[in-house]
Amino acid sequence: MIPPEFDYAAPASLEEAISLLQQHDDAKLIAGGHSLLPLMKLRFASPEMLVDLKNVPGLTGIENGSGLKIGARTRHVELQEGSYGLLTEAAKHIADQQVRNRGTIGGSMAHGDPASDLPAVILAMDGTITAQGPNGERQIAASEMWQDYLTTALADDEVVTSIHVPSYEGYGHAYLKFTRRAEDWAMVGVAALVKVEGGTFSDVRVGLTHMGQTPLRATAVEQALTGQPASAEAIAAAAENADQGTDPPGDLNATPDYKRHLARVMVRRAVAQAAGL
Ligand code: FAD
Repeated sequence: MIPPEFDYAAPASLEEAISLLQQHDDAKLIAGGHSLLPLMKLRFASPEMLVDLKNVPGLTGIENGSGLKIGARTRHVELQEGSYGLLTEAAKHIADQQVRNRGTIGGSMAHGDPASDLPAVILAMDGTITAQGPNGERQIAASEMWQDYLTTALADDEVVTSIHVPSYEGYGHAYLKFTRRAEDWAMVGVAALVKVEGGTFSDVRVGLTHMGQTPLRATAVEQALTGQPASAEAIAAAAENADQGTDPPGDLNATPDYKRHLARVMVRRAVAQAAGL
């Protein structure tokens, strides 16, 4: 399908991009285009103007300092080909290489699709999204970012400039994704990040992909396991709570109940893998 007609601008600065968003009621930013263009082709979105971020400087690259600062226009392939622990593992699971070569982390954060893989990872890592708008820069905690289906805390005239995640040195990690066909969107995805000290879980973080209208944390599992022995038995018992507080959508692939079952099984496996068990 051909998208509806639109105007196009490729500003050379962040300020210009923000000003274009302010001037046009129905303007949309475009980065990799791999979420927005399909929506436009299906006529679910018909912005009057696309503001392309491709010439805006300072939005790419990954800085390793106190944790990672990832430019918004960093493409999935750059995470995939680096050594960024859980982020690299999850990026490898995103769609196919063509999508990973174009799609960006900033687009994934801003699009707010609960079936996307990176939001649950950033949530589990307690990441921060930096956005710039007409009144300057602000930080949005991942826990505040995703508010409803495809709905984020971003204002219409704000641009995500970077994503920051703390360092999780000494943690084990795993990202598991269940799909009917290779390279599909997740029916359910699980991001696990664990620290084991002296045979005991001192920190457990679990993010869930596609288990509700937004990415979620499996808080009940995290709480049940923290302070417990890092054993297969403890993980199995805690994973029974993996679907607490979730509301997975039923679709052609599975009923909500089946997805809840998947979450329990996959959380058990992901935490065990992250703990090296
Ligand atoms: P765009 O499509 O350019 O933009 C998406 C939205 O974000 C738009 O609303 C846009 O205005 C906004 N936006 C973009 N950049 C910014 C910014 N810097 N600041 C503020 N707003 C911004 N993703 C997965 O995670 N897992 C998958 O399995 C998966 N499968 C896919 C399969 C196919 C066939 C396709 C086409 C896509 C798939 N994706 C998947 C989505 C892909 O990862 C997207 O690239 C990503 O979600 C959005 O990034 P983008 O750069 O393409 O964003």
